[in-house]
Amino acid sequence: MASKIEENVPLAELTTLKIGGKARFFVAVENEAEIIEAIQFAAQNRLKIFILGGGSNVLIADEGFDGLVLQLALKGISNSQEKDGLAHLTAGAGTDWDEFVALCVEKNLQGVECLSGIPGFVGGTPVQNVGAYGQEISETIVSVRVFDRKTESFLDLLNSQCGFAYRTSIFNTTEANRYIVSAVAFALKLGGEPKIVYRDLRNYFGDAKPTLKETRAAVLKIRSEKSMVINPQDPNSQSAGSFFKNPIVTREKFAEIEEQAEKSGIKNVQSFQVDEKSVKIPAAWLIEKAGFQKGYRDGRVGISTNHSLAIINRGGASARDVLDLKNVIQAKVREVFAVELLPEPIFVGFREN
Ligand SMILES: Cc1cc2nc3c(=O)[nH]c(=O)nc-3n(C[C@H](O)[C@H](O)[C@H](O)COP(=O)(O)OP(=O)(O)OC[C@H]3O[C@@H](n4cnc5c(N)ncnc54)[C@H](O)[C@@H]3O)c2cc1C
Repeated sequence: MASKIEENVPLAELTTLKIGGKARFFVAVENEAEIIEAIQFAAQNRLKIFILGGGSNVLIADEGFDGLVLQLALKGISNSQEKDGLAHLTAGAGTDWDEFVALCVEKNLQGVECLSGIPGFVGGTPVQNVGAYGQEISETIVSVRVFDRKTESFLDLLNSQCGFAYRTSIFNTTEANRYIVSAVAFALKLGGEPKIVYRDLRNYFGDAKPTLKETRAAVLKIRSEKSMVINPQDPNSQSAGSFFKNPIVTREKFAEIEEQAEKSGIKNVQSFQVDEKSVKIPAAWLIEKAGFQKGYRDGRVGISTNHSLAIINRGGASARDVLDLKNVIQAKVREVFAVELLPEPIFVGFREN
C-alpha cells in the first residue's frame, strides 16, 4: 500500500470544474483491504482524510488539501439476482455512475433511467441522494456498504438507516466524514415502465409510451441541451452541476419572502408544494430574478449560457474566483428575497468561504 501512496498530486483534473491545488498525499483504493490500509497510513501520519469519487460535486481550494485524498476506485457490477419481481445488483463505489445506468437500461431494469447522464461514481450517489427528472437514487437503493471510521469496521446500512431526503442523507449531514462507501446495492423493477413525471419529459413524449431506452435517450438529449452532461467540447459543462440547492421553506417564511420581493417590484414568487407546511422555491428562478442571467460573466468564471444554476470555469479560473461569484449571488438573493441559497457542492481544503 505505502508504495501506492503518491505525494503532491494535482487534483484539478480529477474534478469536473478543473479547479484546485494538490493533495499532499493521494491514493486510489481498489479494494476494501486497501481502504483499511489507507486509513491506517493516515492515522500513523496524523493526516486528515478526504474521500473523492468522480469529483463532480466538489470545489477544491487553490491551496489543495493538506492530508490524504483517498479516491474510491473499487469498480465492478455484480450479476443481477432476481427476487420477487425485482433484480438485485451491487456496484463498486468507483464504478462510473452512468455506466451502471446504461447497463440497467440495457437489461430492461427500471428505476434509474431518469438519472442518466449524471457524472461521478456510484459511491457518490447516496451522499446527496442524487436526483433528477422526478427520480431519486433512494428509490432503488437497498443498502450501502460502508467502512465506519468510528468503529473501524465494514457494515451494510439499510436504506432506512441512510436518512435520505432532498439532496441529503446521513452521509452529508449528521454523520458527515464518518462513513466511506465501498459499494451500493440496488433493487430494480424487471421490465417496469419508465418514470415519466417530470415536466420536461412529459412535454417531450406527449401521449407516447416510451421504453426505458427511449427515456434514457431523451434524458441525455435534454440534459445535453442544458450542458448537464460532461462534454469536453462544451465549455458550459465545466461545472459542478447545480451550484445551489432549491430552498425549501415553511409557508410563513414564504410569505416573508414574497413581502421582501415586492419591495423590489417582484410579484408571484415561484414555488412548488412539498407538503402541507412547506414549499420549494426554484433557485434558478431566484438567481435570474436577482439579476444573474444565463451567460453572466465575471472574469474567468460565470453562469452557464444553458443553465442558470451552473457556475462554470470559463478557463483558468481559481477556486477563489468561484467563491467570490458564489458569495455575490448569495448576497444579492438574500437582499432581494430574504432567503439563503445553500451551495450543493462540497468545499474541500478551505479555511473559510
Ligand atoms: C454537469 C453536472 C451535472 C450534474 N447533475 C446532477 C443531477 O442532475 N442531480 C444530482 O443530484 N447531482 C448532479 N450533479 C452532482 C454530482 O454529479 C453528483 O452529486 C454525484 O453523485 C457526485 O459523485 P462523485 O463521485 O463525483 O462525488 P465527488 O464529487 O467526488 O464527492 C462529492 C461528495 O461525496 C463524498 N463521496 C464521494 N464518494 C464517496 C464514497 N465512496 N464514500 C463516502 N463519501 C463519498 C465526497 O467526500 C464529497 O463530500 C451534477 C454534476 C455535474 C458536474
